[in-house]
Amino acid sequence: MKLAARAQRLKPSATLAISAKAKALKAEGIDVVGFGAGEPDFDTPDNIKEEAIRAIKEGFTKYTPVGGIDELKNAIISRLKEDHGLEYAKSEIIVSCGAKHVLYNLSQALFEEGDEVIIPSPYWVSYPEQVTLAGATPVFIETNEEEGFKIDPDRLRRLITKKTKAIILNYPCNPTGATYTEEELKVIAEIALDAGLLIVSDEIYEKILYNGLTHTPVAKLGEDVKKITVLVNGVSKSYSMTGWRIGYAAGDKRIIEAMSNLQGQSTSNPTSISQRAAVEALKGPQDEVRRMVLEFEKRKNYVVERLNSIPGFRCFNPQGAFYVFPNISGFFGKRYSGKEIRSSVDFTEFLLEEAKVAVVPGIEFGADGYIRISYATSMEEIEKGMNRIEEAVGKLR
Ligand code: PMP
Ligand code: GLU
Repeated sequence: MKLAARAQRLKPSATLAISAKAKALKAEGIDVVGFGAGEPDFDTPDNIKEEAIRAIKEGFTKYTPVGGIDELKNAIISRLKEDHGLEYAKSEIIVSCGAKHVLYNLSQALFEEGDEVIIPSPYWVSYPEQVTLAGATPVFIETNEEEGFKIDPDRLRRLITKKTKAIILNYPCNPTGATYTEEELKVIAEIALDAGLLIVSDEIYEKILYNGLTHTPVAKLGEDVKKITVLVNGVSKSYSMTGWRIGYAAGDKRIIEAMSNLQGQSTSNPTSISQRAAVEALKGPQDEVRRMVLEFEKRKNYVVERLNSIPGFRCFNPQGAFYVFPNISGFFGKRYSGKEIRSSVDFTEFLLEEAKVAVVPGIEFGADGYIRISYATSMEEIEKGMNRIEEAVGKLR
């Protein structure tokens, strides 16, 4: 049987594949340190779990409205208002099965053959695949370490053509951990407004910021910018709820309605129980989030310092999210067990074989001179992993 061309072209999610591989090796009894998974190691807070149990006991186990229950839409509206002073109506909100699903619906609702979508590189693995799946063409705007992995406005202007439909922003960024100041966002938003582009703003790591930095949603820069922006967020990262699958978008009513129609013909509503849990996450006490961020910051500082002390690594100090994206091109041309390291995939294989440490190769994010290390794991595992990496690269010749 011949698969559809779109399925043949589609790549599996590398981030999910590597986490699965590390888990499988562990299950075989191999002591692998997993730095692959982009999910918090903390448990979902108890108040959230209890609300889900209450929902089950009350029999809240049936279909709900496709785009989410009113109670959750209202909780999202309140959080956006309370945290950022943003005002949205219920018709401008959709709840889907994770932010990934929100972004999928958005691509399907907006992009088609002939459209170009600008994606800053390094990028999260699913953006180009979703854009391509919708028939549109991803156009990458390179960002680099020297410029703090931020978009250069002139480079952006040069990339815009008559076909450009949207730009995808993701800050704090997966995989680099870079974020934008309000001033920097204003420049990008002006360019988008001038060119008539839509801004897709994936702000799922908004709460995970260090050094006392605060997050500014691009939609907050003015009514005109808000109109052209679809804000994407979810509970996976902030509340350690990756498995519950709840994400949401806020934006233009027509776009939200189109996304809802797609959802109605594909998944129907997100899980009723998870929706109730998400209401509690957004409305309940927020101190667990702060505790988690403090712990992440300690780990981040440790990892950056350790990596920068190992000859061959050069590690950008992230401002947010829970990844570091060190430059490993200093190891290219070196050898182990008769093999030469020529790419991020070779380096990743070397780390898995020789150090029993799983990381994601930078090529999957569009940057071959790098690897991504997720430090969303215990300090003990991090220390073990760093020691192993240091020892293994010390043997490279
Ligand atoms: N956007 C980014 C940048 C991410 O790293 C992730 C991680 N999974 C998602 C969206 C999707 O999150 P989820 O589907 O779990 O809400
Ligand atoms: N976003 C996380 C990551 O980048 C989870 C995996 C995924 O959804 O791709 O690792």
